Amino acid sequence: MGLVVQKYGGSSVADAEGIKRVAKRVVEAKKNGNQVVVVVSAMGDTTDELIDLASEVSPVASGREFDMLLTAGERISMALLAMAIKSAGHEAQSFTGSQAGLITDSAHNKARIIDVTPGRIKDSVDEGNIAIVAGFQGVSQDSKDITTLGRGGSDTTAVALAAALNAEVCEIYTDVDGVFTADPRVVKKAKKIDQISFEDMLELASSGSKVLLHRCVEYARRYNIPIHVRSSFSGLKGTWVTTEQPDGQGEESMEQAIISGVAHDTSEAKVTVVGVPDKPGEAAALFRAVAEAEINLDMVVQNVSAASTGLTDISFTLPKAEGKKAISALEKAQGKVGYDSLRYDDQIAKISLVGAGMKTNPGVTATFFEALSDAGVNIELISTSEIRISVVTREESVGDAVRAVHSAFGLDSDTDEAVVYGGTGR
Ligand code: ADP
Ligand code: ASP
Ligand code: MG
Repeated sequence: MGLVVQKYGGSSVADAEGIKRVAKRVVEAKKNGNQVVVVVSAMGDTTDELIDLASEVSPVASGREFDMLLTAGERISMALLAMAIKSAGHEAQSFTGSQAGLITDSAHNKARIIDVTPGRIKDSVDEGNIAIVAGFQGVSQDSKDITTLGRGGSDTTAVALAAALNAEVCEIYTDVDGVFTADPRVVKKAKKIDQISFEDMLELASSGSKVLLHRCVEYARRYNIPIHVRSSFSGLKGTWVTTEQPDGQGEESMEQAIISGVAHDTSEAKVTVVGVPDKPGEAAALFRAVAEAEINLDMVVQNVSAASTGLTDISFTLPKAEGKKAISALEKAQGKVGYDSLRYDDQIAKISLVGAGMKTNPGVTATFFEALSDAGVNIELISTSEIRISVVTREESVGDAVRAVHSAFGLDSDTDEAVVYGGTGR
């Protein structure tokens, strides 16, 4: 008998009907002879609503109590799903992340999993139950406080449990039919991808394709857990994220698509430090100040200095949520760095083209820039890796930019329209 881990996102369990629909699917997997462990997210936009509520009572809510609050969302869905399964005539037990053995460090709101000890889950399924686990949460090894894994963290819970339980597959059920060549909410002609490598999926996820969280893909790659992303609303086969083709042929034999897809991200802001003295040590001092505030940077660009002034500008992008922290860290460092001024801009979007085949195909960058220029989109920053090109543009042109690039690389589907079954896209 195989063990499968299934994860249902918020849009799949958005209301009582959704929970009953999911219960049916879970029971089917059990009837097919599998041991079944289910990870659930909070219902619909519950997590966002809890965050809004917290900000009404405290402008800087974070840390221990914030995690206590947010984990309540997943506890509601786990208990309701267990009840729905029981009333369909099957045995189910629900568990918090802590009860399921998700041990983390103490970094509230962005804890990392450091161990998984799923003894209670194993016992529960061995006794014939369907085990339901609250996603996105764990318990700190040191403080024993409840922690959360960061937004979208239920994906990571599912893969971590799949690895610890030696599952055959980790199925991620969501509101679209799989991973597409672009976000189906933005590109109606996006195509479903049948199989994608961990590497390409990692780049798409870290460039903003929130259908899978990048940390979850990293985890799956490390433990070689195949992920099957699919819709909980349809019976269609979804996207396999693996190192191998589903037919068992090795990666070597895989015909690499030149381009896997286009991702976009509107969750970042841009900081420009104007008038930095162009001499050794200046950038180091600047980024030391940002690092000490524990801010994760994304793109970094330094302009050529104007020879007459000996001053240069340095721009970088970072999560909008960390903007205030970065600005105050930089203001404190002004005496040391000696720059002129700071500019903060949160009306930006990042558009990325991802594909392992681009490293051997010259001309990809030119086609990408031409597509943006034909769509009248201005490029503000550029960064590249071996299998990705990203640009920053105005947020208002993100839809046009993504659609233009998607068409230019021949990714548009000429048959079906991508279906979005639920969710609000929030
Ligand atoms: P869940 O609630 O199931 O976790 P998410 O909202 O986190 O769902 O992720 C699913 C959403 O991801 C889709 O509704 C879609 O808008 C978005 N998305 C972004 N990029 C892609 C992509 N390349 N393929 C599929 N979906 C994508
Ligand atoms: N409910 C959490 C969130 O909205 C975790 C998740 O859905 O994965 O971020
Ligand atoms: Mg998600």
